[in-house]
Amino acid sequence: MDASGSLLCGVETSYHGGMVGTNTETGPVENGVDCSWSPIGTVTPTFVKARYLSPKQPQVSLFSLPGHEAGAATYANAFDPAAEFVTSWFGRRLNGSVEVADFADPSSAPFESGTLLLASMAAQDSKLAGINLVHELVHSALPSSRPWVYEGLAHFAEAMYRQQQGGRQAALDFLGVHRAAFLDSEKEVSAALRKNVEQKTVGQPLATTFDETYYRSKAAYVWWMLRDMVGDDALKQAIHKYRAEDDNDKDPKYVEQLIESAGKRDLGWFFDDWVYQDRGLPDFHVQSVHPWKTDKGVQFITVTLENLGNAGAEVPFTVMFEGGEITKRIEVRAKNTATTRVELSGTPIEIKVNDSSVPESDLTNNVFKISAP
Ligand SMILES: [Zn+2]
Repeated sequence: MDASGSLLCGVETSYHGGMVGTNTETGPVENGVDCSWSPIGTVTPTFVKARYLSPKQPQVSLFSLPGHEAGAATYANAFDPAAEFVTSWFGRRLNGSVEVADFADPSSAPFESGTLLLASMAAQDSKLAGINLVHELVHSALPSSRPWVYEGLAHFAEAMYRQQQGGRQAALDFLGVHRAAFLDSEKEVSAALRKNVEQKTVGQPLATTFDETYYRSKAAYVWWMLRDMVGDDALKQAIHKYRAEDDNDKDPKYVEQLIESAGKRDLGWFFDDWVYQDRGLPDFHVQSVHPWKTDKGVQFITVTLENLGNAGAEVPFTVMFEGGEITKRIEVRAKNTATTRVELSGTPIEIKVNDSSVPESDLTNNVFKISAP
């Protein structure tokens, strides 16, 4: 949650003619205040006061309340694996310690500012403690004045840590909670773009947004998709090279260039659709399939996917066949189709597009049944 920012208000006066309560024929009777909130950063000056126990480790300060010792111990035990994970991905020394301060009420919503997290230690959930620590440790390792980098990477790292704990599907389920946060507003963007509304008047480009559903939730997906596209090693290499203090980071394309050079791949189209502009979400479906066999009896299927949305993406699709399944990835640009062929070791039955790693506006059209020839 953000609290640092500026509140801009303007007084609006409504005039009513001859209304009850006025003694002139047309006089001002109602004043309304129209306010807009513009956060100016992601770090809020924060003070916490309580009778804390404070067992201090070199790189983490755990301020717990009496009675929550077991939860504090869970956090303490989760620290080393979390730090090892963050160092492996972010590849640099942590800049100072992270702090976790306890809430008395276990149902209090967490709050964070910089590398300080306020979260209840009443629950002793070791998975959650590890994920929370990963988030703050990423902030410690990778300062950035760009919210989609600073918070987006921290939420992305949470999902990756979830994958380490429980596999890719657990991580995608974890990310799914984020999708709900921006799905409706992105559907509105998609609908507006379908009506040819001018691009610059709709949506929230990730590169400049201060809306936290975008710079946290949508950004987490964008980093996840980038990782799926270029692979762990290339993305790690790009992250290792990122320096917020570099003059380079004044260039809006700095992050794109780091990942392109590490991944040896053109990603301009992706950054245009997801970072520099808000083009809503893609909408994939199977446009056509053609199962065929070679003279030697080898089974293939030619698959054409269509993206009805205004944002392109590389999307995984899985072909189920008698005796197994195979997953491939394909780049389908906005308002476009892409075709590929896949070798199978059995008769194809069904194709499922997108394992939910790419946020989409419509997930109801993603399964295609293949009828017998
Ligand atoms: Zn954060």
